[in-house]
Amino acid sequence: MPSLNGKIALVTGASRGIGAAIATDLAAAGATVIVNYLANAEAAGQVVSQIEALGGSAVAMQADVSDFDEASNLIKTVKKDLGQLDVLVNNAGTTRDNVIMLMKEADWDLVIDTNLKSAWNCSRAAARIMMRQRKGRIINITSVAGISGNAGQSNYSASKAGLIGLTKSLAKEIGPRGITINAVAPGFVPTDLTNDIIEDMKDTIIELTSLRRIGSAQDVANVVTFLASDAASFVTGQVIAVDGGMVL
Ligand code: NAP
Repeated sequence: MPSLNGKIALVTGASRGIGAAIATDLAAAGATVIVNYLANAEAAGQVVSQIEALGGSAVAMQADVSDFDEASNLIKTVKKDLGQLDVLVNNAGTTRDNVIMLMKEADWDLVIDTNLKSAWNCSRAAARIMMRQRKGRIINITSVAGISGNAGQSNYSASKAGLIGLTKSLAKEIGPRGITINAVAPGFVPTDLTNDIIEDMKDTIIELTSLRRIGSAQDVANVVTFLASDAASFVTGQVIAVDGGMVL
């Protein structure tokens, strides 16, 4: 495992699912991790306890990262309390699936704000710190739905495709300041977000997956930790699918 000793890493939406696995893996590599959450303080506390039980260091911080001021204040608090910010993982996300004729405007706004605006909010505030440091890592958790689209997910797919545009634009814009920005695109991973779909469509998903298995949050975390590490210092602007070959 690459070493992240001495690094400070913020993972948004880290109280559950993929974010919790990423936070735990970054901490196992030696980073001090900020476990951001929206409402689930107990779950965030459990992630922190689990990291500490494994000998790592973590702190939970509540913020609605879809809100510009809350996201900015979260990053300011990280800088004030921990002195620096080396790795930002924009992972917070949600779904409100429906066919377009039945999708409410509020469903569009919530998903775009939670999945896309949040990443811009946090990246904007983090870039200020990372540009001064002349180094930093931003990793955006997009989705295969952002690459290939998905019927019934016009809001979600648009938000995830937007994250890919954000990733590539920032890689060009702030790369010269020593900051890398990459995106990781998971396929189906069992979490609160997807458990029902995966349960209903398990055989089809496995059939569509070249490696013939369902992915795990750890599969995603492994790639994020690599991208956060010195081993990935010449990788930027890339979208890495972690989908077992589902979208080729
Ligand atoms: P999840 O289990 O539903 O967890 C979502 C996390 O995001 C929770 O920690 C939640 O906090 C947090 N969150 C939601 N809105 C937030 C906000 N406004 N501010 C701060 N935190 C917020 O989801 P997941 O499946 O792990 O998904 C994580 C990321 O991976 C998402 O971006 C998702 O789109 C992406 N992804 C997932 C899959 C999959 O198959 N699971 C596939 C491709 C991409 P609370 O616990 O406080 O509610």
